[in-house]
Amino acid sequence: MLGIDLGGKRAFVAGVADDGGFGFAIAKKLAEAGASVCVGTWPPALGVFTKLLDSGRMKESMRLAGGGELEFERIYAFDAEHDLLDEVPAEVRESRRYKALPDFTVQGVADQFVADFGERPLDIVIHSLANGPEVRNPLLRTSRRGYLGAISASSYSFVSMVQRFAPILREGGSFLSLSYMASERAVPGYGGGMSSVKAALESDTRLLSWEAGREYGVRVNCISAGALASRAASAVGFVNLLIDYGRNNSPLPESIHAGEVGATAAFLASPLATGITGSVVYVDKGIHAMGIAPAAFPDLEDLKS
Ligand code: NAD
Repeated sequence: MLGIDLGGKRAFVAGVADDGGFGFAIAKKLAEAGASVCVGTWPPALGVFTKLLDSGRMKESMRLAGGGELEFERIYAFDAEHDLLDEVPAEVRESRRYKALPDFTVQGVADQFVADFGERPLDIVIHSLANGPEVRNPLLRTSRRGYLGAISASSYSFVSMVQRFAPILREGGSFLSLSYMASERAVPGYGGGMSSVKAALESDTRLLSWEAGREYGVRVNCISAGALASRAASAVGFVNLLIDYGRNNSPLPESIHAGEVGATAAFLASPLATGITGSVVYVDKGIHAMGIAPAAFPDLEDLKS
């Protein structure tokens, strides 16, 4: 039987701080396919995440489909906004949540992987993180600082990860990032430059697939996911409207669940997908394919006659 087998592979999923988002769902599916999974957690969220894990409150969601429990091989403090420790501003490095941590930068965590597991320790790298300081502002009222901050944390971070992790991936390795339809269509309210962030991620997927494919033999893909009420999306404030809109107007009139994105991520990381690179794969019940919302045609049945 054809199945996804990630046995013997190690993954790094960056952007996990609870069990409500895509990163967690991806980590779980990768583990269900047999991979060992390490996660990267943003320092400001690390304390809460560790408490959640220790308190047993995630026990139910840690249960794997085939039996057993999800275990993280390592949890790295990881801040994707910084490439090298020397470049981190002193007010960050010396702040309460950062000062006791090992090197949390992109290069620092790549180096820790090598120190912990030896040369070429990884097969799968997932970028499931975003931060837009002014996401609640319309693009029309977004400052330069807010816009560049969003790009730095949410899309350059992926370029940096490919740069710094590709050299330590084993043969057949792959990268994945998470995008949203606002990259290519106007989604009112998705502000602060976050739509531009996603457009950059998708564009970078194509050029990085070429460059890193030729230089390191790795694959680079992106999933454009439907709306999900994760912690990050809930903070934006109107994700439930996007979820309802998706359910009412998609070819498949239902909400996506995070496990569907997780399963696609596991497939894309697997030997079944060795022909796929430079692609944006939609996991959104088809909403991206629609040009006009069916609500514009209240009497849909009439159109069939
Ligand atoms: P989430 O809250 O589970 O994940 C976002 C994570 O990013 C959090 O764990 C947060 O701590 C982390 N983070 C923020 N800044 C960081 C930094 N500088 N360094 C490291 N980590 C940092 O939310 P999610 O919605 O599952 O988001 C995961 C990805 O999916 C994001 O790229 C998001 O844009 C994308 N996405 C989300 C939706 C949605 O509706 N939720 C739809 C499409 C795409």
